[in-house]
Amino acid sequence: MCGIVAYIGNQEAYPIILKGLQRLEYRGYDSAGVALLDQKLTIYKKKGKVAELEGSLIGKNLHAKSGIGHTRWATHGEPSDRNAHPHRSPSGKLAMVHNGIIENFAPIKKELQNKGYVFQSDTDTEVLLYFIEDIYHNDATSLEEAVRIALKRIIGAYVIILLDEAHPDTLIAARKGSPLVIGIGKNEHFLASDASPIIEYTKEVVYINDYEMAIVKPDELILKNPGNERITPFITKLDMELAAIEKGGYEHFMLKEIFEQPTAVFDCLRGRLDAKAGTIRMGGIDKHLELLKEAKRIILVGCGTSWHAGLLAEYVFEELCRVPVEVEYASEFRYRNPVINPGDVIIAISQSGETADTLVALENAKNQGAFIFGVVNVVGSSIARLSQAGAYTHAGPEIGVASTKAFTAQITVLYLIAIKLGYAKGCLSRDRYLHLIGELALVPDKISEVLKSAPAVAALAEKYKDARDFLFLGRGYNFPIALEGALKLKEISYIHAEGYPAAEMKHGPIALVEDSLPVVFVATKDSYHDKLISNAQEIKARKGSVIAVISENDTVFQDIADETIAVPAADEILAPLLSVVPLQLLAYYTGLAKGLDVDKPRNLAKSVTVE
Ligand code: GLU
Repeated sequence: MCGIVAYIGNQEAYPIILKGLQRLEYRGYDSAGVALLDQKLTIYKKKGKVAELEGSLIGKNLHAKSGIGHTRWATHGEPSDRNAHPHRSPSGKLAMVHNGIIENFAPIKKELQNKGYVFQSDTDTEVLLYFIEDIYHNDATSLEEAVRIALKRIIGAYVIILLDEAHPDTLIAARKGSPLVIGIGKNEHFLASDASPIIEYTKEVVYINDYEMAIVKPDELILKNPGNERITPFITKLDMELAAIEKGGYEHFMLKEIFEQPTAVFDCLRGRLDAKAGTIRMGGIDKHLELLKEAKRIILVGCGTSWHAGLLAEYVFEELCRVPVEVEYASEFRYRNPVINPGDVIIAISQSGETADTLVALENAKNQGAFIFGVVNVVGSSIARLSQAGAYTHAGPEIGVASTKAFTAQITVLYLIAIKLGYAKGCLSRDRYLHLIGELALVPDKISEVLKSAPAVAALAEKYKDARDFLFLGRGYNFPIALEGALKLKEISYIHAEGYPAAEMKHGPIALVEDSLPVVFVATKDSYHDKLISNAQEIKARKGSVIAVISENDTVFQDIADETIAVPAADEILAPLLSVVPLQLLAYYTGLAKGLDVDKPRNLAKSVTVE
C-alpha cells in the first residue's frame, strides 16, 4: 500500500512526481505529499487525495531537480497533514517517504525519546527517520552507512527513499517486503512503487530486491547488498504501453476494466490455447508437467478476490484432475503452522504480485519444500520472482481498486492449467477435453454479449441502491461467484452484503429475509439448477426480492425472479467467467448511483503490501 515516486535528474521534479502520484493513487489515497530539494529542502503535504495537494500548491515556486513524493494508506496514525509523508528529520536536513510498517517502532521510539527527541507525527515512519539521523550524526560516516546500520535493527516491511539537503545529487533507497522499481533515463532516474509513473519516460527498469539498497545519482545507479558489496543492476525492458494505464474515454477505470474483459481473457488465452489444434501450451506448466501430475495435493493461496479465484479453482481442479485441493487465506496460512509435505504444489494467486501475506506464506512454504507456482498479473513482481514456475494472467494494468479483469484472467489461467493437467493425467476423455477448450475459446465473445446488459444492470442498481443489505447465493461453481459478487458490492457501494452457498441460507441468513432484502442468485443452468430454483422459491415465500443472473431462455427462473439478467449458455464449469460480469456491473452502477468514488473506495488500497 501507499505509492512512492522520486526523481533525480535535469528535469523539473515536481510535475513528474505529481503525475506519478496520480498514477499510483490506487495504492493509497488518504493523504499525499512531496519533498523538493533546490538548495533547501521544502516539504508540502496534505490530507486527502493527490488533487488536494496539487490544488494547495498552485502558484508556488516548485523548482527542483530532485524530489520524493508519497500517497499514503495510513497504518500508524490517522490520515492528517501531520502524519502525511514525507517526514522531516530533527535537523530539518533529511526527508523520507516510506511504504510499509516498522513493527518494532515502539521500543526505538522510547529510546529516542529518552535521548530527548520530540516527534511531530504518530507514524512509525518518523521513528525510523529519526533513528537514521541519530546514527548519521553519531555513529556513521555517511547517510548510506547510517541507513544500513539502522535497517539491521528494523523488523517489518519497507521501501524508504531519503533526500539529504547536504547531498542534492543523491537519493538513497532501500527495500524489504514492499516493491520498488527504478527507471533509467538519460542522466536521470525515476523511482516508484510500480512502473506506471515511469513508462512515459523510459522502458528500461531495474526491480530492486529485498535487502538491497540503491544509491541513485542522476547519472549513476549503485546497488548494494546488506554486506555493502556492489551488485550489478539487472535491467529489464517494460512491455507496457502508456494507453494501458489511462482511462481511454471511460468515466472510471473500473468500468473500463470491466469492459476490457473480452480482451483480457483473449490475451490470456492467446498463444496458449489453440482450439483448432486441440492444444494448450503454457511454458510454466509444460516444463513442470510431470511434477504437477505427481502432485499429492494442490494448495491455492490468495487474499480477497484472488482467494475467490482459488475457491473456484478448488472445484475445477478436483473435478477435472482428481487431485485433493485446499484453498487458504494467505494471512491464516502463514501463521498457523500448516502441514506441508513433499509433493505439495502451492499455487499462489495475486494480481499485484506484491500481496504481503501471500508473499510471506510462500516463503514459508518454499522453505518447507513445497513447489511454488505463481498466477500473477504484474510482470516482474515479488511473487512472480519468488515462484519456481508460473503463468502470467496478461490482463494488463488494473488501476481500479476493486479487481475485475484481473479476476477473470486469473480464473482463465486456472482453467487452462486444470484442463491441461486433467487431460495429461488421463482424468478427462479426449472428447471432454476438446469440448472444454472449444468452449473456453468462445468465452471472450460471450463476455462481450454479457456486457450489453450494462444499461439494464444500471437501472437495477438505481432501483436497489438504498437497500441496507444484500444476500448473494450460488451453488457449485457459482458459489465462489456469489462471494465475489458480495465482496464487489461491499467494496464499491458500502452496502453490507453476504455471499453464501445457497443451501446454507437455511442455516442462518434466512432470518434476514424480509421484503426490503434483495437476494441475488447466481443461477446459470448447471447440475444444481433445480435445487437453486427451490432456494429462490424459499426467498419469494418470505417476500424477499430475487435478482437472478440466469442462462438465456431460462423461463422457469424468469417466472420466479423479480429481476433477471441473462448471460449466454456455457459449459457449467466455465459459466463463472460469464456470471461474474453482471455482478461487477451491479457493484459499479450501485456505487455510481450513490455518488461514490468507485475507483478509490474508502479505506481500501489496491496492492496490499502490509499484513
Ligand atoms: N506506516 C506508514 C504510515 O502509517 C506508511 C504507510 C504506507 O505504506 O502508506 O504512515
